[in-house]
Amino acid sequence: MIALTERTLSGWGGYQPLSCSVAEPSSRGQLRRILDSQVEHPHVLARGLGRSYGDSAVCRGGTVLLQGNADRILSFDRATGLVRCEAGVTLADLIQVCLPRGWFLPTTPGTKFVTVGGAIAADVHGKNHHVDGTFGRWIRRLTLLLADGSERVCGPDQDGDLFWATVGGMGLTGYIVEAEIQMRPCTTAYFRVDYRRHRNLDATLAAMEETDSDYRYSVGWIDCLARGRHLGRSVLMLGNDARAEDLSAQQADHPFTVAPKNRKSVPIYFPNMALNRLSVSLFNEVYFAAHPDRSSIVDFDTYFYPLDSIHHWNRIYGRRGFVQYQALFPPGTAEKGLRAVLETLGRFGLASFLAVIKRSGPANPAPLSYLYPGYTLALDIPNVGERMLEMVRQLDKILLHEGGRLYLAKDSLMSEDTFRAMYPRRDEFLAVKRRVDPGNRFVSEQARRVGLIVTS
Ligand SMILES: Cc1cc2nc3c(=O)[nH]c(=O)nc-3n(C[C@H](O)[C@H](O)[C@H](O)COP(=O)(O)OP(=O)(O)OC[C@H]3O[C@@H](n4cnc5c(N)ncnc54)[C@H](O)[C@@H]3O)c2cc1C
Repeated sequence: MIALTERTLSGWGGYQPLSCSVAEPSSRGQLRRILDSQVEHPHVLARGLGRSYGDSAVCRGGTVLLQGNADRILSFDRATGLVRCEAGVTLADLIQVCLPRGWFLPTTPGTKFVTVGGAIAADVHGKNHHVDGTFGRWIRRLTLLLADGSERVCGPDQDGDLFWATVGGMGLTGYIVEAEIQMRPCTTAYFRVDYRRHRNLDATLAAMEETDSDYRYSVGWIDCLARGRHLGRSVLMLGNDARAEDLSAQQADHPFTVAPKNRKSVPIYFPNMALNRLSVSLFNEVYFAAHPDRSSIVDFDTYFYPLDSIHHWNRIYGRRGFVQYQALFPPGTAEKGLRAVLETLGRFGLASFLAVIKRSGPANPAPLSYLYPGYTLALDIPNVGERMLEMVRQLDKILLHEGGRLYLAKDSLMSEDTFRAMYPRRDEFLAVKRRVDPGNRFVSEQARRVGLIVTS
């Protein structure tokens, strides 16, 4: 019998932690035995590194399955860049093994501390969605353990419905045990980044559109407290892979080696009042001033993972935590929708010092995958109780009105009605879930809240 422990779990935002039973299977056999014992484990859910912000890796009354023992890279073909690994392997592990051999992640979220299982389940995206799509596009094959304990292999060309429902399916179709990932060739561990300041939202959006075909990577920081003619002022960070000849002599000696960063840590939860309008506005002034237009060669860690250098940075939001709100708008309504979101933030005075804008390209076949062509704005919103909830309700209305949608990996609060309106392919997903998990063995708090469960 596998040992269960009670743990208080939440997502990265630390919003509303819950007590859950947790197990860490040591082998696939043990995992299968858990799935076989339906009476003891009526509900199960895989959990990666808990970097989703809300309650998608939390399951009250079920067994949350950790993957600390599923962290092996099973094979890596350095000629083709194809990696086969267990789902608990992290993106940091993949970089460590593949980068020195000239292969990088085909796409990556803003932290490398996520598992392959979590990256597939959320179908994560990076700064290069407009060019390279999501993580799911680079998965050649998956091995899943289904609710009845059976093992199933699927891929884009093998049981495609199950494959695409699992990509972006937030762990609700089965337990991913293994994946094959196509890495992308690179010639250095560095990127050529152009930093460009823009004075307002119109200029920011125009610049993103104009530069789309010139840069593989595109991301911007937005000053969400700027008002009036400066509303939406930003610093865009536009990047391409650096070539060997772009590097300094010192870098060129070891083009795939980046000195490890001195990681800082936030050792305690900050008091709830530490992040207020004044402190965020000061931060924003300093950040904007510190980023004049310039071009630099920066290593992958600096460009893709600035927050990873601060361990437990989420504690600056205090014990009440925060929610993340990632809004996607189609191109036709993006300017209007983003303006309304920024104005609403300003009215409520609930400032987010991390406000990130990205451009997205075509959607993939996965029914729950988040992105379609448009612009996304991701905001961290401190949990100040009812005022935060009221603001989120108003933001939801804006999104619904402008044809926008929220990202499941970031969501903590979306209602079932809102989810149904934002994800019109929900029934296609549920048809697959009905086929492989009619009894809702795989369930999360988020699935219960947004109605991603099979009903009879
Ligand atoms: C600082 C930061 C920056 C981020 N930036 C981005 C970004 O730029 N783009 C983006 O897309 N996301 C981003 N994210 C979100 C993050 O990439 C996703 O939430 C990702 O899913 C987290 O992976 P995880 O391993 O921590 O999974 P968890 O958060 O533990 O779980 C997420 C989901 O995956 C499921 N899951 C995990 N393992 C398995 C498995 N083996 N089988 C089946 N289901 C599984 C869980 O059940 C859950 O539903 C960011 C998060 C942080 C904290």
